[in-house]
Amino acid sequence: MNAQVENAAKEAKAAFRTFANAAPGMRAALLREIAAGIERLGDALIECVHRETALPVARLGGERARTCMQLRLFADVAERNEWIDERIDAAEPARTPPRPRISSRLRPLGPALVFAASNFPLAFSVAGGDTAAALAVGCPVIVKAHPAHPETCAMVASAIHAAVETCALPRGVFALIGDAGIDAGIAAVRHPAIKVAVFTGSQRGGLALWREANQRAEPIPFFAEMGSVNPLFVLPEALTSQSEPIANGLHASMTLGVGQFCTQPGIVFLVDDGAGRAFLERLAALVAATPAGNMLSSVICRNYTQGVVAFAAIGGVRKLAAASAAGEAIPDRAAGAALFAIDVDTFLAQPQLSDELFGPSSLVVLCRSPADFVRCAEALPGQLTATVWAGEHKSGDNEDLLWMLEQKAGRVVFNGFPTGVEVGEATMHGGPFPATTDSRFTSVGTRALLRFVRPVAWQTPAT
Ligand code: NAP
Repeated sequence: MNAQVENAAKEAKAAFRTFANAAPGMRAALLREIAAGIERLGDALIECVHRETALPVARLGGERARTCMQLRLFADVAERNEWIDERIDAAEPARTPPRPRISSRLRPLGPALVFAASNFPLAFSVAGGDTAAALAVGCPVIVKAHPAHPETCAMVASAIHAAVETCALPRGVFALIGDAGIDAGIAAVRHPAIKVAVFTGSQRGGLALWREANQRAEPIPFFAEMGSVNPLFVLPEALTSQSEPIANGLHASMTLGVGQFCTQPGIVFLVDDGAGRAFLERLAALVAATPAGNMLSSVICRNYTQGVVAFAAIGGVRKLAAASAAGEAIPDRAAGAALFAIDVDTFLAQPQLSDELFGPSSLVVLCRSPADFVRCAEALPGQLTATVWAGEHKSGDNEDLLWMLEQKAGRVVFNGFPTGVEVGEATMHGGPFPATTDSRFTSVGTRALLRFVRPVAWQTPAT
């Protein structure tokens, strides 16, 4: 038995009734107080995250702002209380048989377990979007800290504990399982008091925990966001006038944050003609000149560098460019961008080429014509995003491709790039398996709260 998990689960269970039934304004006040508390941590928080993750200070300032924006967005959602989606079927005593009155609304599932993500140490970690969504609807939250930023986790947790106290809510509304390892995460998923769990990270970790959740005596919903290769299709017509800006934008998107985004475009589909080859030449030159960057942890960096070597050894894969990992970077975290190419038939014969390689690397698949794009899209596994560059929306060949991509991805981007996920009412950040374990839900945006609720109906007799 893990004492930290046991204690957190016991307190969360004890807090659930009070928190679930707290006035909407109270949960909103808690979320706003957490945001204010994080802001009060000031530069010390940014310095701590920077030290642990090597993410640039400017990016971290932006991520903190996004974290607090998410908390306040969910505070507004909690306060409006529309998420309960109340429905009432009036009684009809005169009907044969008489119809009872039924009212239903969404209710919180119970204590929620959140696995902090490594690549968003603020926005998808201790007080990130998952925590905000669960608290907004009345689920006490237990966070399993990520080992790549333990002190950051502890600092943010202190702000949440203080907010819980300020709002005079039960202490079990929030707990952090820190510095605990894989076994603690498994123990928490197995704990009978936990009623829902959410995860962002690797496919291996996500599926291992998803199995645990399903093997319980009482299985629970387990939502894992495990990333994808986010295919990007460049139709020939797009290259006639926009070859240079697309190459520049694609390079920026694939190398942004040293490629450590689940929406990083890891596969690009091009037609192998003169314009396609000129585009590729420009992209390769940009990749080769990319400065080295520090990755989030030495483990993630090792996975990436070993992955690049393994990728280059796959039959038919050509390495077009590899940036140096040397420079001012931290030695065991330094990574260089890489670009590979392969012909369409060899790509289609090797499904492992569609596996995510987390970092600043992309594979270009050279096709005979846009008809190959549809075949390739059909062969891809589920994705978080899919992008199409074309002249005009839904014209000619695009319709088949866009229909296929709707089957494959949670978000279809047109004439843009997939990195940079907006947080709003319409956001969809999920996708068919294996991008996530349940394509009906999103982990970003206000719809994310639907993972933490279930409908309950109350029925009374017709008379
Ligand atoms: P991870 O290895 O999946 O770890 C995430 C969390 O899951 C950690 O708390 C970890 O526990 C736990 N965990 C991992 N494997 C587990 C298992 N078998 N049983 C129980 N718990 C398990 O992800 P990461 O550390 O963030 O990065 C590692 C790799 O994940 C990266 O190289 C990348 O390939 C991928 N990744 C993908 C995304 C994405 O958005 N697609 C984001 C981040 C990472 P411990 O920490 O205690 O070990």
